Amino acid sequence: MRFTSLITGVCLTAGLAGNVLAQSNELNLYSARHYPTDEALYSGFTQATGIKINRVDADDAGILARLKAEGAASPADLVLLVDASRLWRAEVDGLFQPVKSKVLEDAIPEHLRAKATPEGSAWFGLSTRARIVVYDKQKVARSDVDTYEKLAAPQNKGKLCIRSGSHPYNLSLFGAMLEHWGTEKTQNWLSGLVANLARAPKGGDTDQIKGVASGECAIAVTNSYYMARLMRSTNPDDRAVAEKVGVVFPDQAGSGTHVNVAGGGVARNAKNRDNAVKFLEYLVSAQAQNHFANGNNEWPVAKGVKLDNPALQAMSGGSFKSELIPVSAVGMNQVKIQRMLDQVGFK
Ligand code: FE
Repeated sequence: MRFTSLITGVCLTAGLAGNVLAQSNELNLYSARHYPTDEALYSGFTQATGIKINRVDADDAGILARLKAEGAASPADLVLLVDASRLWRAEVDGLFQPVKSKVLEDAIPEHLRAKATPEGSAWFGLSTRARIVVYDKQKVARSDVDTYEKLAAPQNKGKLCIRSGSHPYNLSLFGAMLEHWGTEKTQNWLSGLVANLARAPKGGDTDQIKGVASGECAIAVTNSYYMARLMRSTNPDDRAVAEKVGVVFPDQAGSGTHVNVAGGGVARNAKNRDNAVKFLEYLVSAQAQNHFANGNNEWPVAKGVKLDNPALQAMSGGSFKSELIPVSAVGMNQVKIQRMLDQVGFK
């Protein structure tokens, strides 16, 4: 686990006196968003509300482990995670509490939040990222990679690069396919992907794009923001990598490209619950949603927010068709998917 800051001694009075005392003017945030440009989000909220944010940064797994270890004594008010399967895991492990908010319900499409109960939803998607395909324009015809299904087709043997099958981004992609296709087709597809690998899975998404540019791979799978980051980089080498590869949003003629969410939920034992809800609501405001698009090359979730990002525009032509299955179902499928990956030998 890596933590860059620690919370010490906050909200002691609220903890001792229960709900009688007013909440503090602070918000204790556990965040897995590993993007330096997010500073603008936090300072924007503090400026607008006067609420100070104390932040703990760690990866998704580290945050979940920490919340479990801290139990009822946890100072966490709000938790931000960057993947549907992790959000689902936190929900079923009882780490969130339901929130009912008209602002959130009006802004966020239903399939991008946790299943609603009468008490509300356990978590909310705040931005989306598409899991796209990039390919070597010299060696591969776009029509050979324009669906996820074709990634496992015989014509693509020895061409595919992808990060570890068990990485949450892939567990969510494969979980979505299980939702679309059912068990048998998904398992055959996963075994086809293994058969088509150009090399054993290694590295992150950016490494897969670079593998295509260097010629080691002809096809790769990546989250859209890693590609946009290369396109917008100040380093000419990065831009050269981006220029070498073609981009496909798979399944535009079918059920749409798989999208994952980054999102957040109010911690089970939040002492500053109202501040946490306020911050979630701030994150779906036009200002914050624009930041997700411009600062970190993600797509806004809020309806009616205009996309203002040249790389995303260039990549998708401004918009694309995304799948509409509930992201909560995708999370739920991860246990089955992990079993399939073991069976087909997808490391
Ligand atoms: Fe990422």
